[in-house]
Amino acid sequence: MFISIIGPTASGKEEVANYLVNKLGFTRIYFVAGNSHSTATVNGNGVETDGEEQRVFTTAKHLINFITPRWRQNFVSTDITSPVDLYLMWKRPFVLVVGVDAPMGTRFKRYCAKAANTGHGPLTLAQFVEMDDALLYRCEDPPTNVAALVAASDLEPQLTSETILSDSPMQPVAVPLPPQAVLLSPIIRNAADAHELNLKRVLSSANVTIANTFATIAELHKHLDHLDLLNPERLRPSWDTYFMLLSELASHRANCMKRKVGCILVKDNQIIATGYNGTPKGITNCNEGGCPRCNDGTPCGVSLDHCLCIHAEENALLEAGRGRVRNATGVVLYCNTCPCLGCAKKIVQVGVKVVVYSKGYGMDQLTLKLFKEANIVVRQHTPPTLSMEIGSP
Ligand SMILES: [Zn+2]
Ligand SMILES: [Zn+2]
Ligand SMILES: [Zn+2]
Repeated sequence: MFISIIGPTASGKEEVANYLVNKLGFTRIYFVAGNSHSTATVNGNGVETDGEEQRVFTTAKHLINFITPRWRQNFVSTDITSPVDLYLMWKRPFVLVVGVDAPMGTRFKRYCAKAANTGHGPLTLAQFVEMDDALLYRCEDPPTNVAALVAASDLEPQLTSETILSDSPMQPVAVPLPPQAVLLSPIIRNAADAHELNLKRVLSSANVTIANTFATIAELHKHLDHLDLLNPERLRPSWDTYFMLLSELASHRANCMKRKVGCILVKDNQIIATGYNGTPKGITNCNEGGCPRCNDGTPCGVSLDHCLCIHAEENALLEAGRGRVRNATGVVLYCNTCPCLGCAKKIVQVGVKVVVYSKGYGMDQLTLKLFKEANIVVRQHTPPTLSMEIGSP
């Protein structure tokens, strides 16, 4: 595993890295982009040596090439701040990006205290803000960086018709987008998005984000213990996590005004149907006024007999058809919300034997009692992170 820790100035990145090294046995590696480390020498592979081991790198490509054959070992770095370098690594399945953040006032105090201890001159708050903004919002020019990446990349060029436009609204000039840009990330597919090619954007998409408002290092360590960063699910989800994330994804299509629910029906870990909640085909969507009950102030679970919306579980069961589910072993219903009693009755009747849900609903005890009587195995499973963003890398 390679953990790249990113975050603004004085957010606590070093402390998190120290925790990983001292408590979890990670190896610290260093990255000095584009220039030579003053006390080390660069060998022919772009790897700087510190006398003992090769742990200082000058290009992202060399760094990732070093880690790839050693991915079962654990490495950590706090030095990588270029979004292009980060995305180059992030596509690998053993890379976790951990964001560390803290309030500006807290970070300024931490910075001043550290500067005093190390004999560095103090900064005014305005100077600190300027330095911090430069780190977080400094935009990278996609063509320049991508050109550099082409030189460093081991990727084969892909055929593409992607173009970027000049920033002139009057006379747009089509410029071919270097092919590797498409592979890097959706955020640099065109010039209009170039302003987002900064560390702040990467921070908002980090696999794990730590709000380091802790007053002591011991409290931070306690939080890190709780986060369980070595949980293998953070790199590759279990089946339960995989299907729960998919049900969460399906819920994004919901049109019911009450809540977003998604459901995935699987057999032997293969999807046989999906569903989300909303009004039936051909009927005005709930969120466009299709269901009067959902569009007024009716409380959760009340007047469901006047509701025109079909629940996610019902839609999935209808799509699968009873024949594909009835008494079939290996059928599991995943739902991001505990089924209501109405859906629970149908789940029992159709013959599903295992139900996995994430969030609670308003009538969980009634549902669970029914499932128990019907010998349905129920488990609540909330993945280590449900912060999946549509469009994030
Ligand atoms: Zn509705
Ligand atoms: Zn309704
Ligand atoms: Zn329901």
